[in-house]
Amino acid sequence: MSKHPQIRLKPREGRRVRGGSPWAFSNEIEMSNAAKALEPGALVNLAAEDGRVLGTGYFNVKSLIAVRLLSHEAGAEIGQGFLAGRLARALSLREAFYARPFYRLVHAEGDGLPGLTIDRFGDTLVLQITTAGMETLLEPLLAAIDEVLSPANVILRNDTPVRALEGLENDVRAAKGEIPSRITVEENGARYFADLGGGQKTGWYYDQRDNRAFVAALAKDKSVLDVYCYTGGFGVLAAKAGAREMAAIDSSQNALTLASEASSANGVEARAKFIKAEAFEELERLAAANEKFDIVICDPPPFAKSRKDVEAAARAYRKLARQGASVTAKNGFLLLASCSYNMPLDRFASECAIGIARTGRSASLIRQAGASPDHPAHPHLPETAYLKSLVYALD
Ligand code: SAH
Repeated sequence: MSKHPQIRLKPREGRRVRGGSPWAFSNEIEMSNAAKALEPGALVNLAAEDGRVLGTGYFNVKSLIAVRLLSHEAGAEIGQGFLAGRLARALSLREAFYARPFYRLVHAEGDGLPGLTIDRFGDTLVLQITTAGMETLLEPLLAAIDEVLSPANVILRNDTPVRALEGLENDVRAAKGEIPSRITVEENGARYFADLGGGQKTGWYYDQRDNRAFVAALAKDKSVLDVYCYTGGFGVLAAKAGAREMAAIDSSQNALTLASEASSANGVEARAKFIKAEAFEELERLAAANEKFDIVICDPPPFAKSRKDVEAAARAYRKLARQGASVTAKNGFLLLASCSYNMPLDRFASECAIGIARTGRSASLIRQAGASPDHPAHPHLPETAYLKSLVYALD
C-alpha cells in the first residue's frame, strides 16, 4: 500500500472524490514540495485528510484535474495485467451490443481508463491519449492491447489540443502495423469510409449510431436533409432505408467526398446529393427558396468548446433550430444535436424550443437521447454524457 507516493486532500476538500468521483482537482490537494516534485503522470495513492486512502491514480501537478483515479484500491499494481483486465471488460460490454467489431472500444473514465479513448474499425484500433498519466502507461497499454485483441494496426491519433494542458506534445503514428489510408466502417448495416492518413484525418463518430438508426426508420419514401453531414452517417443510412431523396450539406470537401463514396457503396448514389456550403447560409437560401424536407438533421460541430462560449453557442443552437424548422415540411421531423459538454441538456432543449417556436410551428419532442452504449458515462461525471440528440415532430 505504501508502494506509490501519497497525495493528500486538503482538510474538508474533495467532496466529490470522497463520494466516488474519480477526479481530484488541484485546488483540493495539499501541494507539498514532494508532490510538486513528482513527474507528470506519476502513480500515486490518494488519501483523505484523515489518512484514509481513496485509491490509486495518476497525478499531474500541471493539470487542473490533478489526480485521476484508476482503482479504488490503495497501492494497486497498474501495469499490463491491470490494463488488460480493463480492456477485456470494455470489450465484453461492446460484444454484448454489437455483432461486428466496429465501435468505440474504450471511452475513458466510462471504462475505468481515464485519458484514453479507442475506436475500433475491425483490425485497426485508433487510440487517443489525453493525459500524461496515460501516456506514461503507453508501453504496458500496447502490450495489453496485443494480449486482449491482437489487432493488425494500432494508430496513435494524439493530436488534440487538450494534450497541451497536460504538457504533452502531439504524436501521430502507427504504434503497430501501418496507418491504412482508407478504412471501411460498418454501422447499422451500412458501409462508410474513414481516411486516417493522408493529412485528411477523417475518423468516424460512433456516438450517433442509435440516433442514425432512429431517423432512418422514419425515412421510407421521405425527403431528407442532412446538415453537417460529415462522411454521411445520417443521410446515407436514411437513403439506404428508402428515402426518396437525400441532400447533404458540409463545408469540408474531404468529408463530402467520403460521404459520396459511401452513397455509392450502399447503392443510393442516384438518390443522394452533396452540397459544399456553410450550413447557416445554405439553410437561409433553402428557406428563401421555400424548399422543404420531410426529415431534417442538424448535427453540428461543438459550438461551445469552453464554458465562456456557452451564451454564443446558445444563440447559434437557437438559430439552427429556427432555420432547421423553417425547411421542415408539414408533419415532418427535425433532429437537433449538440456534442458540447459545456451545454447542459435543459439549456439546449430550451434554445431548440424557442428557435422552433420563432417559425410559428408547434412541435412535440419525440426522442431525447444521448450517445450509444459504447460511450458509457461515468455516473459521477455528468460531463462524460456530452451528446444530446433531440427529435421533434413538427405540425
Ligand atoms: N453528422 C455527422 C457528424 C458531424 S461533425 C455524422 O453523423 O457523422 C460536424 C461537421 O460539420 C464536420 O463534417 C464539419 O466539416 C462540418 N462543419 C463545420 N462547420 C461547418 C459550417 N459552418 N458549415 C457546414 N459544415 C460545417
